[in-house]
Amino acid sequence: MTHHDGETSPQPQVAVVVPCFDEGAVVDRLVEALVPVLASTGRTFEVILVDDGSRDDTLERMRALSHAHEQVHYTALSRNFGKEAAMLAGMSRSRADVTVLMDADLQHPPDLIPSMLALVDAGHDQVVARRDRTGDPAVRTALSRLYYRLVNRLIDVRIQDGVGDFRALSRPAVRAMLSLGETNRFSKGLFAWVGFPTTHIHYRNAPRVGGESKWGSRSLFNYGLDSIISFNSKPLRLAIHLGMLISVLAVLYGLWVGIDSAIHRNPVPGYTTLLCAILGLGGLQIMMLGVLGEYLGRIYMETKQRPHFLVREVDGGPPGDLPLIG
Ligand code: UDP
Ligand code: MG
Repeated sequence: MTHHDGETSPQPQVAVVVPCFDEGAVVDRLVEALVPVLASTGRTFEVILVDDGSRDDTLERMRALSHAHEQVHYTALSRNFGKEAAMLAGMSRSRADVTVLMDADLQHPPDLIPSMLALVDAGHDQVVARRDRTGDPAVRTALSRLYYRLVNRLIDVRIQDGVGDFRALSRPAVRAMLSLGETNRFSKGLFAWVGFPTTHIHYRNAPRVGGESKWGSRSLFNYGLDSIISFNSKPLRLAIHLGMLISVLAVLYGLWVGIDSAIHRNPVPGYTTLLCAILGLGGLQIMMLGVLGEYLGRIYMETKQRPHFLVREVDGGPPGDLPLIG
């Protein structure tokens, strides 16, 4: 069995990192599409597939692919650590001048890569591929527009609609990403946070060529919460403002009811107002406790300083001395 050792072979100019979770249905097609495009650029390249604890035959296919193509390498994680960790594992293995991140499902067109590389050569450290929303349900488009407006008000870095993880990064940008050690990785925000000269390139949205998306509407909602909470503590500040506003309103309302009954001899309105106040405030308090707890939970997770992922197998062999974390 051949061992393609990324450490001893010469450093390629381009590395393409692909996180894969249950992508057995598409990973062959991806490599078949990717290799000719990369070869056509005339640059030396490698494809780094990361198996994120797939339950299907993804890993067997990766073994076969790395056997068949000397440019194809893979890292298999010990279980499913999530896309962020899988990307980190791939990036930490890349020694190339330019690293391209893309999804396995061919929703990110490989044909775009040559123009992205040209833009990196032209001095942009991050070349971000931005998709339009053709074919997306109108409700989803409207909701995501709302989401981006809200998030950009709350967090300090600017994130844009249609901008995902499909991007080309220069070596300094990759090193910057690897230097961020936080456990809770909201990559859209992290990419924006590291900065560097950035440019965008547009492409048309396409459906997945096979397999299934791992995102339901519930995980999208949680992702939305993550994006706000993992970036700063403005929600805590918001809680203080909201609490103050409600206290002031309560005092004003109390005054008004008192004056009204003293002057006009109106009876004090009864349990309806009380109930509204109790329920409203109760809900608010529980919500704000949740916000508080969320931050506390994150602090707890960060203090553990656990590695972001664990490697089980690399290119047909044990992980050896390859870095476990970035
Ligand atoms: N992915 C991963 N680990 C996960 C979930 C997803 O590595 O826990 C990979 C997946 O294999 C794909 C990419 O992340 O290459 C994007 O996933 P998906 O296509 O399901 O997301 P969508 O395009 O629907 O946002
Ligand atoms: Mg997809």
